[in-house]
Amino acid sequence: MKILVAIKRVVDYNVKIRVRADGSGVETAGVKMSMNPFDEIAVEQAVRLKEASLASDVIAVSIGPAQVLETLRSALAMGADRGVHIPCDSPPEPLIVAKLLAAVVTREMPDLVLLGKQAIDDDANQTGQMLAQLLGWAQGAFASKLTVQNKTAEVTREIDGGLETLRLNLPAIITADLRLNEPRYATLPNIMKAKKKPIDTLSIEDLGVDARPRLHVLKVEEPSTRTAGLIVPDVATLVAKLKTEAKVI
Ligand code: AMP
Repeated sequence: MKILVAIKRVVDYNVKIRVRADGSGVETAGVKMSMNPFDEIAVEQAVRLKEASLASDVIAVSIGPAQVLETLRSALAMGADRGVHIPCDSPPEPLIVAKLLAAVVTREMPDLVLLGKQAIDDDANQTGQMLAQLLGWAQGAFASKLTVQNKTAEVTREIDGGLETLRLNLPAIITADLRLNEPRYATLPNIMKAKKKPIDTLSIEDLGVDARPRLHVLKVEEPSTRTAGLIVPDVATLVAKLKTEAKVI
């Protein structure tokens, strides 16, 4: 079984996000970048399936500027076999990502595509679902448990009010939620080995995708700062303040 894993380079989750002074987006210059945390979980899952002899080949794909090669090397150090880089000045919007991934799927013919449930920079939570629709494949989004057997995958999904278990016929698209697994740290020998693993480059033209953006960001703003709360000594003061000071926003 062949598994494709889509990974995005995003601002590291520990970094305090700053909005660019001109409001055109989030500041990324001089900021620590890392693999999207949900994508690390997706890579971990693919590698575990390989270690359990359920997968033969794990391919990591990333779309973005040359720096995403570093992110692809991290996936290779975790255990992916090879990488595919699709160069693009800045990571494109979800529909374009889904179209590019669909074109890679047509070339590679994987049995399973694993993605993160969402990228923590734009929080779009769209790419996996769009990819499933473009390919006409089964999808299991927000997976917190995955078992693969013969030509089926059983996915437990975190939904409002509980868990849902689906059985999907492969090939399928699965997006990883937080509780699916705990990703490993790459060991030094594996980081060294990853340097020798192949990374192919496929251009957007090679894949025949119209990558012109359809979304236009008008403005990005910091959330307004919250004013400090107040501790009142007793219920009577609380009620008095609610009567005289509280406002409906
Ligand atoms: P999103 O729909 O933007 O929240 O992203 C959901 C998932 O799609 C991510 O967790 C990644 O697995 C994948 N993805 C999004 N953007 C990219 C990209 N530029 N390159 C590779 N995979 C991506």
